[in-house]
Amino acid sequence: MTWTERQRAMLDAMGIAVWAAPEAGEAASSRDAARSANAARETRRSAAPAASAPASQVPSGADDRSARALEIAALDWQPLREHVAACRACRLCEGRKQTVFGVGNERAHCMIVGEAPGENEDLQGEPFVGAAGQLLDRMLHAIGLTRGVAEPAQQVYIANTLKCRPPRNRNPEPDELALCAAYLRRQIDLVQPRVLLAMGRFAVQTLLDSSEPIGKLRGRVHRWHERPVVVTYHPAYLLRNPADKARAWADLCLAAEQLRR
Ligand code: URA
Repeated sequence: MTWTERQRAMLDAMGIAVWAAPEAGEAASSRDAARSANAARETRRSAAPAASAPASQVPSGADDRSARALEIAALDWQPLREHVAACRACRLCEGRKQTVFGVGNERAHCMIVGEAPGENEDLQGEPFVGAAGQLLDRMLHAIGLTRGVAEPAQQVYIANTLKCRPPRNRNPEPDELALCAAYLRRQIDLVQPRVLLAMGRFAVQTLLDSSEPIGKLRGRVHRWHERPVVVTYHPAYLLRNPADKARAWADLCLAAEQLRR
C-alpha cells in the first residue's frame, strides 16, 4: 500500500509513524510494519514531554477530527491518561497548569460529569476540589456515595466535560467541548456506569446534545447510548442559588433509584 500526501499528513497529525511500502517480494509483512509503527508511537508517547507529544496536535479538518476520535475511542486507561496529558487539540492547552483527567472507581456504578476545571482543579489536577467540590461531596454522601476509596457501588467516578481550565473560568467554546468530548466518551465507555449524573449545562450539552435549560431537562431520565442520564444543577450554581437545592436533592434521589434497579 502507498500513502497519499494527504494521508501522510493525517497520520502524522495523529502521531502515527508512516513506514515505507514494502517492495514486492520484500520479507516484511504489513502486519510487522504496523507493529513497528505502533511501537514507535508508544515509544514517542512515553518519551516525549507532555507539551510536545505529536499524538495530540491540532486536528485541522473533519477527517482529522474523526481520525482522532477513533484513535481515542480505542485507548485503554493509561494511554488515555497520557493522551489527555499531552493534548494540544485546542487553545485551552496554552493556559493550563495541568490537565484534569478524572478520579474515582474505574468500575463505578455512578459517574459524575462536571463542566471544567477551575483554578484549584488546574493547580491540583483533580476535579471538584474547591467549594463546589465540597458541596458535591456532601450531596453524594446524602445518597450513600463517596469519592473516597470504596466498592464500585459506593465510590463514584468523576470526570469533567473539559479537561483543561478555560482562562478566567470563562464558558467553554463549542469547538473546545466538541474536541474534548472524545475523552469523556471513552471514559464513560471504560467505566460503564449504571447511571450518569450530568451537572450543569455544558455537561448536559455534551451528553444530551441539548441546549435546553437544566430546569426543563431535570426530573426525568434521559439516555446516553442506552445509559440512564440524570440531569441536575451544577454545585457551583447551587452555592449561588441555594433555593434550588431541594430540586437537586430530588435529582439525586432519581439517580439513586436508577442505581437500585
Ligand atoms: N466545576 C466543575 O464542573 N468541575 C470541576 O472540576 C470544578 C468545578
